[in-house]
Amino acid sequence: MKTIVVTGGAGFLGSHLCDALIEKNRVICVDNFFTGTKKNIEHLMKNPNFRLIEHDIINPLFIDNEKIDQIYNLACPASPVHYQYNAIRTIKANVLGTTNMLGMALKHNARILQASTSEVYGDPLEHPQTESYRGNVNPIGIRACYDEGKRCAETLMFDYHRQHDVDIRVIRIFNTYGPRMASNDGRVVSNFIVQALKGEDITAYGDGRQTRSFCYVSDLVEGIVSMMNKEGITGPINLGNPHEFTVLELAEKVIELTGSSIKIGFRELPKDDPIMRKPDIRLANEKLNWRPNIELEQGLKDTIDYFKEVL
Ligand code: NAD
Ligand code: UDP
Repeated sequence: MKTIVVTGGAGFLGSHLCDALIEKNRVICVDNFFTGTKKNIEHLMKNPNFRLIEHDIINPLFIDNEKIDQIYNLACPASPVHYQYNAIRTIKANVLGTTNMLGMALKHNARILQASTSEVYGDPLEHPQTESYRGNVNPIGIRACYDEGKRCAETLMFDYHRQHDVDIRVIRIFNTYGPRMASNDGRVVSNFIVQALKGEDITAYGDGRQTRSFCYVSDLVEGIVSMMNKEGITGPINLGNPHEFTVLELAEKVIELTGSSIKIGFRELPKDDPIMRKPDIRLANEKLNWRPNIELEQGLKDTIDYFKEVL
C-alpha cells in the first residue's frame, strides 16, 4: 500500500481521484474547503485508509509521522468565478502552494504530479493545442492569476526536477465536467445544467461560437492515475477529450437532454475568454495508451442526474 497525498481532495476532481485511489492505498486529503466541500468526501471519512487534513497549501505542511510515496497537487480554485474572487490567493496557491508541496516531495522522496491546465496556452493561436505550443497568455489580464500561476507552477516543477532530481509528472487538463461540480462555480457545464433544471434562460457569453472540448471526469481520473504511475516520463502531457463543441452546441444539448423549454440569452463575453480550445492528445495516447471513452451526451446525462439529486 502506498501513502498518497491529494491536495484539493475535497474538490470536484480531487474527490473522484480519492475514490479511485482509496481502493489500494492510504489517502491523505489536504483541503482548505475554499471551493471543495465535506459532502464530496463524506463517504470516505469512515474508511480507515482515508485521512483529512484541513490546511491551506499556501502555508507549509509537515507530515512527519509517515512516509509519503506520491503527491497529487490539485489544490487551486479552478473556475474563472472562483479563481478571480481572490486573485492574489489564487496565484499564491499556485506559486507558494506548489513550492510547499515540492518541498514535501523532496523531503519524502515522493513522486509529485501537478494538475496544470489548458489555460497555459491562453487564447491559443495554434489549434488543436500540442504540448510544444508555448501559448498566448495576457500576463496582466483578469485570468492571469490562474494562467500565469499555473505556468509558474510548471516552471517550479521542472526546476525542482533539474536542481533536486524530484520525480515529477505534469498534466495539462482540458475542460472536465461531471458529478460533484459545484453548482455555483460558474463553469459552463454546471451553469447550463443548473439553469435548465431551474427553468432559467441559458446564459451564453459572447456570440456562443467560442469552442471548448469537454472531458468526462471518469476518463480524466484514469488518465491522471496512469500518468502518475508511468515510469520514465515527466510530461507535460495534455489530458482531455478532443471532441470540440461551440458553447451554443453545448447549450442546445443541455436543453434537449433536460427536456427543458428555456431559451438561450446572450451576455457580454468575459475579457480574455479563449476563442477556441481543443487538445491534441496524441502524446497521451502514445505514452499512456490513454484516450477518453465517454462522449458528451452520456456524460451530460450522468451530470444532469447528479444535479437533479442535489439541487
Ligand atoms: P475545484 O475547485 O472543485 O477543486 C479545487 C480544490 O482545491 C477544492 O477542494 C478547494 O477547496 C481546494 N483548494 C483551493 N485552494 C486551496 C488551498 N490554497 N489549499 C488547500 N486546498 C485548496 O476544482 P477542480 O475542477 O476539481 O480542479 C482541480 C484541479 O484541477 C485544479 O488545480 C485545477 O486548476 C485543475 N484543472 C481542472 C480543470 C477542470 O476542467 N475541472 C481543468 C484544468 C485544470
Ligand atoms: N460560458 C458561457 N456561459 C456561462 C459560463 C461560461 O457562455 O454561463 C462560456 C465562457 O465564456 C467560455 C466557455 O463557456 O467561453 C467555458 O467557460 P468555463 O468557465 O466553463 O471554462 P474556461 O473558460 O475556463 O474554459
